[in-house]
Amino acid sequence: MADSRFIEFQITDVHSTWADRAARYALTSLTGKNSGDAPEHVIKQDSLSLIKRWRARISKLRSEGWKSVEAPKDLLFVGNCPPIGVYTKRTRLKPCQDASVCPFCWCRKYVYEPFKKFDDFLYLPDSSQVRPVDLIEVHYERKYMLDQGWELPRDAFEWVKELKPMYLKKRVKKCLGAFVVCSIEPPENHRDRQRPYYVLHHRLLALIDQFEETPSDATPEEDGVESGRKVKRIPNPPRKELAMALGRVGIYPRLMMSGSAEKVTEILNMRSPVVRANRSSGQRKEGGYRMSGYYGCLRGEEKPPLPT
Ligand SMILES: [Zn+2]
Repeated sequence: MADSRFIEFQITDVHSTWADRAARYALTSLTGKNSGDAPEHVIKQDSLSLIKRWRARISKLRSEGWKSVEAPKDLLFVGNCPPIGVYTKRTRLKPCQDASVCPFCWCRKYVYEPFKKFDDFLYLPDSSQVRPVDLIEVHYERKYMLDQGWELPRDAFEWVKELKPMYLKKRVKKCLGAFVVCSIEPPENHRDRQRPYYVLHHRLLALIDQFEETPSDATPEEDGVESGRKVKRIPNPPRKELAMALGRVGIYPRLMMSGSAEKVTEILNMRSPVVRANRSSGQRKEGGYRMSGYYGCLRGEEKPPLPT
């Protein structure tokens, strides 16, 4: 399909709420380390480059057999996914919702959505008041070495189901609420960088009482898997700190965009549910893996009363 059929986006302005900044921090894995706080003209340029890169990527993934863009109309729809954090002249365009790989939908689902939930919890309508709680940021990764005989990425996906709530249940006492997001990145085979393993990332941001201890960063040892965990505490965060923390927790998995298209396609096809025709509702979804989750007050549990 000719690129000319894609919409030519014109970026007229830049949004600069803290949620937008959080999304830009999350995309620095693609746009470069300092691009999160770049001047407006650079942000506009970065957005246009990212659209171009995304379109080139989906064509490549399609040639490897990515099912979501098999039909030409689907390829067009996904390639016209509207960018985030900027104004374009095009309104009413629908996001593609392929959050596991589309950098814009990744941010919609794993940065904007949790930002709103944390924001609603932390900052009270009278903005002079912030709830007296701390943030706990956790980064955990497991490396599945190719030469260890793992059947990948299936093993990693199966592990996600167990892993998602595990740290919260075992380590975070009296967690008030949390957001967890997992991602799987393919091995890297590059002139300068060799990563002969799949990586499973498990990242979370949790709310805890100011009087609770910081949870442990201990990592249990396991045969055939290398893993590591980092834990950071952010006391009584202002919005800027929340934005930076969500930018780190929701960082886009770089190799989904630049790693082996064959391996990324394998990950995507495995991760997506199979959609089957169904007589009553039109279609139903089977299988697939949920890579994120909300817990406690961020999932609708009652918020604790404010101290008086
Ligand atoms: Zn999208």
